[in-house]
Amino acid sequence: MQPHGHLLLLRSYVRPAYDTEMRAVVLGSDSELGLADVAEPATPGELVTVLACGLCGSDVEKIGSTGAGTVLGHEVAARTAEGRRVALIHHAGCGACGRCLTGHESTCERFRVPTIVPGGFAERVRASGWVELPETVSDAVGTYVEPLACVLRGAERVPRGRVLVVGNGFIGRLFGAVLARRGDTVFAVDRNPLRAGAPPDGPVDAAVLCAPGGIEAAVEAVEPGGTVLVFADPRAVPGDVVYRRELTVVGSRSSTRAFMEEAVALLPELEVPEPVVLPFAEVERALALFREGSASKVVLVP
Ligand SMILES: [Zn+2]
Ligand SMILES: [Zn+2]
Repeated sequence: MQPHGHLLLLRSYVRPAYDTEMRAVVLGSDSELGLADVAEPATPGELVTVLACGLCGSDVEKIGSTGAGTVLGHEVAARTAEGRRVALIHHAGCGACGRCLTGHESTCERFRVPTIVPGGFAERVRASGWVELPETVSDAVGTYVEPLACVLRGAERVPRGRVLVVGNGFIGRLFGAVLARRGDTVFAVDRNPLRAGAPPDGPVDAAVLCAPGGIEAAVEAVEPGGTVLVFADPRAVPGDVVYRRELTVVGSRSSTRAFMEEAVALLPELEVPEPVVLPFAEVERALALFREGSASKVVLVP
């Protein structure tokens, strides 16, 4: 196999009209992730060069449940043909249906269609929308626009006051930063003691579930009448507690262009965890770091 840089250099001079290949991190039939050459997609949208792509818990969950050949990655910083640095929008609602108009864009039928093809862990992708990155934000931190947008959208469903974050990994820490900034008193617990923040000193008004499982901890912590935001797979919600304590359980998933724009404006001012940046070729190491929880965020670069 040729060295990566050499390959890139060649391609910038020799550009066949069709069937151009590029490198991508591809899911194998054995549920392993590895580098492979894939065809550069011809449609839809505009061809952009990937600068960096964040590894997200939702990508890791898809390993084993998504088909071989899938290119994962949706937290993408890229450069457009005009040379602008942007954060890509990975799905979009139609903007006109009842779900979109009531703020549930991520449940729109149209939202199922990815707008980054084939996926962010590729040298180049086709993209149908983006927001421009400010100069002060690095490529790697530019990948935070997408998760931050999801957090900003989710935070709108969390009542103000004393809030417990359950699962204090990268997303939990973004929630903590966003909620503290708006004036909430934030507590955070995590199964990994190295990650835990301030434990709650009494019942809280709301809890945000940022890690799969952990719903019991969230539900048990809130005052009767309180709210639990489900931001990760809760597995089984304890319905009897919800019923007896008259809790409000709300869900939020993904983001919209409006929240991407809000995120890009907020990101330079927000204190965010440092990324661990690795090349695509080291995806297995990235995965190991993610799984052992020893890096708060892993970002891959082509
Ligand atoms: Zn994500
Ligand atoms: Zn819609």
